[in-house]
Amino acid sequence: MPVHRPSDIVLASNNPGKLREIGQLLAGAGVAVQPQRAFGLPEAEETGLSFVENAILKARHAAAGSGLAAIADDSGIEVDALDGAPGIYSARYAGPGADDQANNDKLLADLAEVPDGARTARYRCVMVYLRHPLDPTPLICLGTWEGRILRAPRGENGFGYDPLFFVPTHGCAAAELDPDTKNRLSHRGQALRALVAQITDAAGQHQHADD
Ligand code: IMP
Repeated sequence: MPVHRPSDIVLASNNPGKLREIGQLLAGAGVAVQPQRAFGLPEAEETGLSFVENAILKARHAAAGSGLAAIADDSGIEVDALDGAPGIYSARYAGPGADDQANNDKLLADLAEVPDGARTARYRCVMVYLRHPLDPTPLICLGTWEGRILRAPRGENGFGYDPLFFVPTHGCAAAELDPDTKNRLSHRGQALRALVAQITDAAGQHQHADD
């Protein structure tokens, strides 16, 4: 496998909340990446039926448009009382182009009759790394973060469903956590740390094979 310098990696997202979190996490690991908007790339169409398929579609789109290796994530929230919805449709739960406020309002309305004990939910994140658009063996890592859906928003940090996502281990909403704590606990943080370790391992193995 070619060993990529960090600056040779494109990050396949234009979502400001995700770019901020992923950029912080990678900077902490000494990895700097370029956002796909640096190449004038729009968001990929998410036509897959799973987080894994969508993450690969996004990474392939960014790798093809930039000529670089690509990291992409696909993520969402699964609510047990809604049989796992909104899941892969989390970004557009309230309809195409819906914003965070509309999605959160719909989630609260859909759960209005659901008692506290049945409001369990989890964030999921799949992170992938493609060395090039036709890479037949993408690196794939998963992260899960368990919580509960609140009855009203709390906190100003984070993005998306964070004001409604209660974190039992910390007794507060995800939007009340400081960014470092969220990154330490979150589905995205878990998946990205595992992915960085795999990229580093694969690069090391490649170098040993050359020795
Ligand atoms: P994606 O860009 O298709 O992966 O959309 C993921 C969507 O899931 C986001 O737009 C949010 O609505 C939701 N989501 C994923 N991760 C988080 C998070 O860490 N906090 C809040 N919402 C999230």
